[in-house]
Amino acid sequence: PELAAVVAAGTVDVPDFPKPGIVFKDLMPLFADGAAFRRVIDGILAHHRPDGRSDGFDVVAGVEARGFVVAAAVAYAAGCGVVPVRKAGKLPRKALSASYELEYGEATLEVHEDAFIAGQRVLVVDDVLATGGTAGAALELVERAGGTVAGFTVLMELAFLKGRERLSPRTVHALLTV
Ligand code: IMP
Repeated sequence: PELAAVVAAGTVDVPDFPKPGIVFKDLMPLFADGAAFRRVIDGILAHHRPDGRSDGFDVVAGVEARGFVVAAAVAYAAGCGVVPVRKAGKLPRKALSASYELEYGEATLEVHEDAFIAGQRVLVVDDVLATGGTAGAALELVERAGGTVAGFTVLMELAFLKGRERLSPRTVHALLTV
């Protein structure tokens, strides 16, 4: 099957999570299926190749927490390192912070200030792109920490929330857009 179909088959819609009216896309079944997981990781690597191409990357950054699962697998397959972009207060050393609006309140992401070598090309990954707030903060942090964003990839994009527009002119690669 096509990659988009692999992602769709591994996703369960959970109504009213985390609150009434929201249909949460649960990708845990995709992660738990070895063949499907390998297909999607290979699919990301087919799009963003860690070789000498101008759009290659040197390191992978993953957004806490499900982005870690994807980022570690992509990094291992590419033979490069992985940098966690964490929720506030988790990192042990000096970190940069970026806050963004949620429907109610605010969230903050952090990355160690020395996480990247200047000019290092960073592929940023997460499981789902919704409103784009999380991705926007992660991309900002990578740049403030001295990295160069080589690309942004998600397994699933929820197009009706227009995260892609919010991140423009940056481009988003999604294996499945719903
Ligand atoms: P955004 O900031 O609104 O784009 O939300 C994206 C972030 O929230 C990502 O880190 C996702 O892991 C998480 N997220 C939002 N909606 C969903 C969903 O339906 N399924 C899984 N994760 C989601």
